[in-house]
Amino acid sequence: MTPTGDAPPLVTHWIDGKPDEGRSSRRGDVFDPATGRVTKHVTFASVEDVDHAVGAARTAFGAWRATSLTERTKVLFAFRELLHRGVEELAEIITAEHGKVRGDAAGEVARGLEVVEFACGMPHLLKGSFSEGVSSRLDVYSLRQPIGVAAIVSPFNFPAMVPCWFFPIAIAAGNAVILKPSEKDPSAANWIAQRWQEAGLPAGVFNVVHGDKVAVDRLLEHPDVNAVSFVGSTPVARHVYETATRFGKRVQALGGAKNHMVVLPDADLDLAADSAVNAGFGSAGERCMAISVVVAVEPVADELVAKIAERMSRLTVGDGRAAYDMGPLVTGAHRDKVASYLDAGVKSGATLVVDGREHPVKGDAAGFWLGPTLFDDVTPQMEIYTDEIFGPVLSVIRVDSYDHALALVNTNPYGNGTAIFTNDGGAARRFQNEVEIGMVGINVPIPVPVAYYSFGGWKSSLFGDTHAHGVDGVHFFTRTKVVTSRWLDPSHGGVNLGFPRNT
Ligand code: NAD
Repeated sequence: MTPTGDAPPLVTHWIDGKPDEGRSSRRGDVFDPATGRVTKHVTFASVEDVDHAVGAARTAFGAWRATSLTERTKVLFAFRELLHRGVEELAEIITAEHGKVRGDAAGEVARGLEVVEFACGMPHLLKGSFSEGVSSRLDVYSLRQPIGVAAIVSPFNFPAMVPCWFFPIAIAAGNAVILKPSEKDPSAANWIAQRWQEAGLPAGVFNVVHGDKVAVDRLLEHPDVNAVSFVGSTPVARHVYETATRFGKRVQALGGAKNHMVVLPDADLDLAADSAVNAGFGSAGERCMAISVVVAVEPVADELVAKIAERMSRLTVGDGRAAYDMGPLVTGAHRDKVASYLDAGVKSGATLVVDGREHPVKGDAAGFWLGPTLFDDVTPQMEIYTDEIFGPVLSVIRVDSYDHALALVNTNPYGNGTAIFTNDGGAARRFQNEVEIGMVGINVPIPVPVAYYSFGGWKSSLFGDTHAHGVDGVHFFTRTKVVTSRWLDPSHGGVNLGFPRNT
């Protein structure tokens, strides 16, 4: 970040191991969502800036790829220590630009840290296999090699955790990285870049370019970018997938979500109500794994709605730097868009049980506030159901059977996460088998997999074949090579044009 006279400080790119203001004069505003004030500007990359970063990454890749696994892993461990020590500092940066409360921000860093720890085991994860004597004096073995330059494009809602799903694995496997974080909360990426440098990562292996569509589109088509990991809304994920694959790249593009929580009649309704409130309103609903729809299988709906509403009345909303439950939304424009769904829901005939506009707020009047909202009697045709609202708005749909609930989840175009609440093991087992969703919780409302499993949705929530982190992540950032080897001996068979047959 560089000071610019009386103007707010400028968040610069980080290219080839140093801050870089770039060549473009285009800039964006970065807000403090709790006060509504512009606290920083962020520079927006031009095509030339992206080319500069890709050039630096390409150059750094050669030496980093050739660095021994032992030396690369030492850098990973050093980075892990710095991130571990810096959790609170990074959480403060996130709260100041995203608005989420401090504990939640620290939680996202902790989940990102888990992926760094997973990547510290890269020597084991990169091990190939070896088959001795598959034919006479012939051995076959496999190698996993880095793919080159990897671009990561991340959303505003997890400025630390989502990039961490990808870059630790990419770097540990020997790749060079360009991170294009969200322009709404860009500073976490630069903080991370500095920690990499302190950890001993060579310049150019981890770069940050800031900006918008101009930067992203250049990354998608640049001939020296080999892979793209994207996380964001579904329309942009589709664009990223279609464009980058057209340019011959390996792509994983994670999109939006509409996550259902099915509550069966035998469920513990207090647990279900707690979970619906936690998963619906944590981070002000700005989570891709937030629960946005509760599917109440009758006769539980009346009691469940009452329990949820009672808990919502006790939620505190205020500046995330203090100990409140829920902070502001990320920008004024986003808050207004989310609030517009409250009118849309009423107009379409849903019952507005709790109106978030009336919730008391402890904070600057100019902050981007909206309290938690609950709709009942929602139907699948309503906009509040079909659209990803991405804010603190929870809908309840009443259904008469498990089959009806399952059909609702399975016909929804999104397939990120879902949860079932029940005390019936057989019903839960049936649900996990039949539901067409990538991540499933059983009495767990936000089933975000641990780092050594992989994170990813189905259907319109993910374009591409591999999910994030875990073994999928290792596969995404490496290419397999299989070597068939025979060392000469006196008894080789001479010329033979037939297809090699193992004997
Ligand atoms: P977004 O799609 O607006 O932006 C994501 C990234 O794409 C940002 O870096 C942005 O600068 C860039 N971008 C925006 N418009 C673009 C365009 N037209 N062309 C190229 N690049 C563009 O998403 P957001 O608002 O930052 O984040 C919220 C969305 O992300 C929600 O839909 C949420 O569900 C989704 N999300 C999904 C997951 C997941 O794992 N599936 C995780 C987190 C967030």
